[in-house]
Amino acid sequence: MQVCSNNQQMLDAVSTWKAQGKTIAFVPTMGGLHAGHLSLVHQAKANADKVVVSIFVNPTQFGKNEDFDHYPKTLEQDLTKLEACQVDAVFTPSKEQIYPNGYTSHVKAGSLAQGLCSKSRPGHFDGVVQVVHRLFEIITPNVAIFGQKDYQQLLVIRQMVKTLSLPISILSGDIVREQSGLAMSTRNQYLSVDEKETALKLYQVLIQLKQAVLKNQDLSVAIHNSKATLSQDFKIEYLSVLDANTLKSITDNTSKIAILCAVFLGSTRLIDNIIFNQG
Ligand code: AMP
Repeated sequence: MQVCSNNQQMLDAVSTWKAQGKTIAFVPTMGGLHAGHLSLVHQAKANADKVVVSIFVNPTQFGKNEDFDHYPKTLEQDLTKLEACQVDAVFTPSKEQIYPNGYTSHVKAGSLAQGLCSKSRPGHFDGVVQVVHRLFEIITPNVAIFGQKDYQQLLVIRQMVKTLSLPISILSGDIVREQSGLAMSTRNQYLSVDEKETALKLYQVLIQLKQAVLKNQDLSVAIHNSKATLSQDFKIEYLSVLDANTLKSITDNTSKIAILCAVFLGSTRLIDNIIFNQG
């Protein structure tokens, strides 16, 4: 496994593979790797000849009062995990490699970035799109894999690729959960043992809400009830039931539904979702 800590090393690896006619699958991450990330790596391996994983905590997607400075950094353990998965290259650039002096990005997040996470994290998706576009520029993958865990992000990236006509297939990976049902997240490291117990209630409420939607119960009543339950343990940022393709209200044309939420448990922000077909 090659560890490329600067752009030139990464560009060299990519051009060698391209000269050999190999295809490349790419998994962007911010490190602090867990089984959710590794499931994307396995999916990448099944979809191309070579797999590149990036580890880069992107400053431009963090807000002023967010956890950029404290974001878990576990590079050594991450590399061991990726080596065990037989990843071909890990890209670990510095901030200067990604954003050299004078670098400006013309790429902005599209309409799907509006609402949901953007309400509390203005500019977040512009930062995401900026870094993903930059990484795509360097790695030029054939395929890139993103987790459904960050559902709005997945749609925003798909929209960017479509708008810019980039020749990259975007695949999504299912949410990997703890046995308790809690969606795996690097930020779960911030939770105390007691908070981890509480956190699993989030998924339980989402499942109950899904059942209510499938039974055609009044949507606003069902959401109200779920919020009432959630608010016993969490500070709710949003809980929404939307068309999974447009992230707008459900209409007669909706075929796929998304239940999306963001909550705070203490000072830790958790997001989760369930995507399912209209009954
Ligand atoms: P992050 O390191 O948080 O930026 O995440 C890197 C990628 O892993 C993103 O595409 C996430 O959606 C994905 N991811 C994070 N948590 C999970 C999970 N529990 N299951 C599957 N994919 C995940």
